[in-house]
Amino acid sequence: MMRFPQLDGFRGAPGVVRIIGHRGARGVMPENTIEGFEFTLKIGVRALEFDVVLTRDLVPVITHNHHLLNATTRDDDGCWLTGEELKVSNLTLSQLKKLDVGGADGNTVYGKRFPDQVFMSGVRIPALDELFELATRPEGQDLLFLLEMKSDPLVAGDKNASSAIVAKVVSEVRSRGLEDRTILHSFDWNLLGECALIAPDMPRSYLSQLPDNSDALGEDSSKAVAPDFAALGVSIPNAVSDAGGKLWCPYYMDVTPDLVSEAHDLGLIVCTWTANEVEDINHMIDAGVDGIITDYPGRAQRILLARDLTWQTDPHHQAAE
Ligand code: MG
Repeated sequence: MMRFPQLDGFRGAPGVVRIIGHRGARGVMPENTIEGFEFTLKIGVRALEFDVVLTRDLVPVITHNHHLLNATTRDDDGCWLTGEELKVSNLTLSQLKKLDVGGADGNTVYGKRFPDQVFMSGVRIPALDELFELATRPEGQDLLFLLEMKSDPLVAGDKNASSAIVAKVVSEVRSRGLEDRTILHSFDWNLLGECALIAPDMPRSYLSQLPDNSDALGEDSSKAVAPDFAALGVSIPNAVSDAGGKLWCPYYMDVTPDLVSEAHDLGLIVCTWTANEVEDINHMIDAGVDGIITDYPGRAQRILLARDLTWQTDPHHQAAE
């Protein structure tokens, strides 16, 4: 059986609950940016969750939606984009690089969700390889990646589309030698099936959200590409285990202590998303999850410390654990 050392950074232990920075630290820094990832790393949170989409010239870039949110995107002149939102797969990397994603418009619904996020200018959508480059620098040597691949609902189920993104992403992981620091993560379980074929040397993480819980405002829904959980015939943890997953990442509203125990009995690691409120983070700790994916990694640190818990064992002493 393959040993995947990166899983150690996501597995809880007595006194340890992992913190995973969601899109970096979206609550306080521009999401899915190198600036946000560097901040997260600097506060001592080394596990990052982020989202990858392909450009028109087939470059994996880090951004959440298939269409750029006007609420977080400015043009060359610093003006907010207006009108029909631009689709990432219609733009080349160099076209994307002209746009500024360093701030959120506080007059929009999406901007109002993150009132504490700093406002920066000259911040660009990163190519995936820019983050990988950070990981190869001395200060980035402990970074771990929960790398979410986004499936366009318009082509979901199209094996060629899934294979294209998986092949591109996996080849970039391999060219930087980051196979043992990356987990492949998606709501699209068919795409994860492609990952199993193309990259059996990397562990997979299965996202879930039950259909009765609503989607977040301003974000692409996962529901169009996710499995029909009611039709699985088994519990979600069992289905993840049957599919060969190592991580199960349930929506925080779907988590119960019983499901977490069931997943643990199957040998799965449970990391929940996206717990942001103090009360919700505490509930997730009480439910026994291994890790918490949060827009507020600093807030999660303070909650853990107040409970005499920690998020990190010294990565340089893993062998002694
Ligand atoms: Mg994500």
